[in-house]
Amino acid sequence: MAMVDYYRPLRLNQIDSSLQEEIKRTCGVDVELCLECGKCTGGCSNAHIFDLTPRKIVQLVKLGDEKRLLNMDSLWTCVSCQLCVDRCPSHIDIPRIMDYMREKARKKNVRAQRESIEIFHELMLDSIRKTGRVAEAPLALKHNLRTRQYFKDAELGGRMFFKGKLNPLSPKVKNVKQVKDLFAQTIDKKEG
Ligand code: SF4
Ligand code: SF4
Repeated sequence: MAMVDYYRPLRLNQIDSSLQEEIKRTCGVDVELCLECGKCTGGCSNAHIFDLTPRKIVQLVKLGDEKRLLNMDSLWTCVSCQLCVDRCPSHIDIPRIMDYMREKARKKNVRAQRESIEIFHELMLDSIRKTGRVAEAPLALKHNLRTRQYFKDAELGGRMFFKGKLNPLSPKVKNVKQVKDLFAQTIDKKEG
């Protein structure tokens, strides 16, 4: 599929609606309801560091520009805070689109532009898979080791530990099997 330039006028025959339909079918998010008002971008907590803003992301879904969506840096810097959903008059669930496209990128082996963010994402998923929660101390430690930033956050981590804000033992949730089953049904599911 040819990549579509967002800023250029499009011919109708360049628009591919298959991604829009796929997102509606798999995520239950209908981007057709977008009014292009831009409230999502205005309210987004991370728009200042996004390469593509939430409004543009919704438009690219409508245009079917999957290649650009899979390669965008914003895919890895969305923090799923839901502010855009709260602001949207049509309640379009952009973080759900982000989650779906991020997993699609991983399955297609499309790498993030910044390796350290992808490593963080993998470690965070692994922590949730094994313990049912994000265990901050082991997560930060593993991330710093993998990215060879051995002493990063050491001072802050020490202060947090002595104030009782950091638990190095990372206890599991009660029903961790339920979490593992959820992973097996979604993120870890092999493509059929
Ligand atoms: S969920 Fe993502 S896209 Fe939406 S406001 Fe938060 S950071 Fe921005
Ligand atoms: S706030 Fe909702 S309707 Fe407005 S541009 Fe964003 S996604 Fe579209």
